[in-house]
Amino acid sequence: MSVYGNWTGTRTCRPGRDAWRPDGVAGLAAVVLGAAASGTKLRVVGAGHTSSALGMVDDGGWLVDLRPGLSRLLGVSVDAGLCTFTAEAGITLRKLCDDLHHLGLALPNLGTVLDITLGGALATAYHGTGLAHRCLAGGVVGLAVMGMDGVVRDVGPEGPGPGPDIFRANLCGLGMAGIIVSATLHAVPSFDLWRSVEAVSADAALFAGLGAYAASADHPTLTWSTAVRSGPPLVHVRRCSRQRDDNGRAQMRARARARGWAGLLCPCWRGDTAQSLSFSHRVPAGRGRSDRIFASAEVVPQRTTEWAVALDMGSRAMAELWRILQEPGPGPGPVFYAEVRFSAADDIWMSPARGRETCWLGVYTFIPPEPERGLTQWDEAVTAKFARVGAAMHRLGGRAHPAKEGYVCSFSARFLSVCASLDPQGLLRGPS
Ligand SMILES: Cc1cc2nc3c(=O)[nH]c(=O)nc-3n(C[C@H](O)[C@H](O)[C@H](O)COP(=O)(O)OP(=O)(O)OC[C@H]3O[C@@H](n4cnc5c(N)ncnc54)[C@H](O)[C@@H]3O)c2cc1C
Repeated sequence: MSVYGNWTGTRTCRPGRDAWRPDGVAGLAAVVLGAAASGTKLRVVGAGHTSSALGMVDDGGWLVDLRPGLSRLLGVSVDAGLCTFTAEAGITLRKLCDDLHHLGLALPNLGTVLDITLGGALATAYHGTGLAHRCLAGGVVGLAVMGMDGVVRDVGPEGPGPGPDIFRANLCGLGMAGIIVSATLHAVPSFDLWRSVEAVSADAALFAGLGAYAASADHPTLTWSTAVRSGPPLVHVRRCSRQRDDNGRAQMRARARARGWAGLLCPCWRGDTAQSLSFSHRVPAGRGRSDRIFASAEVVPQRTTEWAVALDMGSRAMAELWRILQEPGPGPGPVFYAEVRFSAADDIWMSPARGRETCWLGVYTFIPPEPERGLTQWDEAVTAKFARVGAAMHRLGGRAHPAKEGYVCSFSARFLSVCASLDPQGLLRGPS
């Protein structure tokens, strides 16, 4: 048996053989039919960036990797002024963004990582930040989905028969409701983003006024770190907007006023740039191509958990997260980074943002190099902290991000009925 591990090295499994790498749809169908005939568990894998068990397969099962053979941008179309593109599921977001950029197009919103596959992003509710934007799967208008009979079904949100249900189940389908072969999504004209970074005082006004910060830019993110223990407690507000910051500020106040949040915008303590940037991410202010600004320049292996709470619970959740992360553990302990982002509501059955405007609260910590790691102690401290965060977020109605630690599958009946129709033997179900 070979060993397969996720990108961060926090999870491994023992598939029965090296991953299949089909060179096209016919090759993928042959793998699928082989698994069905032999009753072998099957998982599609992308770039392995998932920290939950979803990216693994039971011992002896098969993995299939679409990156080498199903990773092309297939076409672009414009209809009634709306632009869509179709791409194969194994394409990385980085290549997709480059290919779209050459055509003068872009994705409207992205998370911080681009070296993942389109299929993996759509199957796990990958999201960026911005109240006007749903997770990436929310921009999908059509899917080509293969069931365990090796047949590809072209499905969309409308139409007769089971198509719309297959469509809905495969957005954030966790790799269990079918295999996404290709997807059609909305694109927008290429655009630049301006990014600013501001340090604000982490006082009660900030927590109470979280909604105003959520509306304060096209793509706002709040971050802090437990590494900073001296000086006034600070939260960093990173704003990415289509306009330069000065204009963005006027827009932000207008948006906050429209939502009745203007009075909550707390007076900011404005840190000097050096202090702002000596913080965790070293994200410089500036302007650039949207996908480059969305994504982190360097990505380091990490342990991470992320929770989606209703936007109106965001202030309480952030205050709670602040309190839990500040609690000292025994000894120096791991350094934790918190990241608060926002998204629009969606109607995707398995999405953590279904039915409500969402505040996403993420915690991560960088995995130290092996020799200085004091493995067990470090891991235990992180596990204990993540458990405290998970319990608190759960109490506030939080839903875990499927690709991160703390996620426990819980399925709706409709979702399970689609899974059963495309995969009667349950071979695509995650590790038992
Ligand atoms: C450093 C880092 C930064 C991250 N930043 C963000 C972020 O900003 N926002 C966010 O939301 N997430 C983020 N994530 C999580 C990441 O988006 C998810 O883990 C995503 O699923 C990774 O895609 P992948 O290609 O690596 O898929 P994998 O991890 O290999 O697979 C993930 C799941 O998708 C399924 N899957 C893959 N391809 C298909 C397919 N073709 N059809 C059906 N199912 C499929 C798999 O079976 C599995 O269940 C980050 C992760 C890391 C490590």
